[in-house]
Amino acid sequence: MDYVKTTIMSQKKHAGLRAQNALKNIIPSDRLKTDPLYTYAYSGDASYFRLIPALVVIVDNEDEVRAVMNTAKDEGLSVTFRAAGTSLSGQAITDGVLCVLGDGWRNISILDDGERVALGPAIIVSEANASLKPYDRKIGPDPASQNTCKIGGVVSNNSSGMCCGVSQNTYHTMDRLRLILTDGTLLDSGDMASREAFRIARPDILDGLKSLS
Ligand SMILES: Cc1cc2nc3c(=O)[nH]c(=O)nc-3n(C[C@H](O)[C@H](O)[C@H](O)COP(=O)(O)OP(=O)(O)OC[C@H]3O[C@@H](n4cnc5c(N)ncnc54)[C@H](O)[C@@H]3O)c2cc1C
Repeated sequence: MDYVKTTIMSQKKHAGLRAQNALKNIIPSDRLKTDPLYTYAYSGDASYFRLIPALVVIVDNEDEVRAVMNTAKDEGLSVTFRAAGTSLSGQAITDGVLCVLGDGWRNISILDDGERVALGPAIIVSEANASLKPYDRKIGPDPASQNTCKIGGVVSNNSSGMCCGVSQNTYHTMDRLRLILTDGTLLDSGDMASREAFRIARPDILDGLKSLS
């Protein structure tokens, strides 16, 4: 049993090295990590689980995300995203490819005099609120981890908090979302042309969602 376990682990490690090599033309090598110290540093989140990633990639834009997903698929590795890593249930760790949000996702745009705000997924909740303070506004979700956790994790988890309850949690206060599916399809829910392209490209998803609702 121990032998089988060791073999599987080293297969993933090798796949991680191959993925690192394949991605070198697209992502600078200082953002592709397979060394034991670095991967161990990313083997935990705020849960009590531990998994050592085969490859850690710091991603900065959508093209890099697509490249990572394609390469991981080729190597049979799973892809897990990580924002701040405050998940209490092991959501931000993996023994596959760990995609960590880099500084490329740290954009904030205040819209409509503070009525709305466009946030990159690497923005910390308290940073978003600091930028809205001059408008006497804040975002809805107020998780107790708000000085650390980031918008990517907040949106994925529909984060809530002690004061916002359900009515002001993430889902109930989100106006627009830009996302990439695992097959590379892009959807910007606030853009009519993008919505139309998505409707043509992925009717299966829309039908599935409709039947669920
Ligand atoms: C002390 C403490 C207090 C907490 N209090 C609360 C609370 O009051 N309310 C609450 O709801 N939660 C709470 N949490 C849980 C946690 O902080 C939240 O769920 C938070 O929103 C996670 O954000 P993060 O940036 O740390 O995400 P991570 O832990 O890094 O990731 C969380 C999930 O989001 C996914 N993800 C992250 N970024 C992206 C992306 N760009 N694209 C796709 N998927 C992505 C990850 O794969 C993972 O599945 C608490 C945690 C701690 C440690």
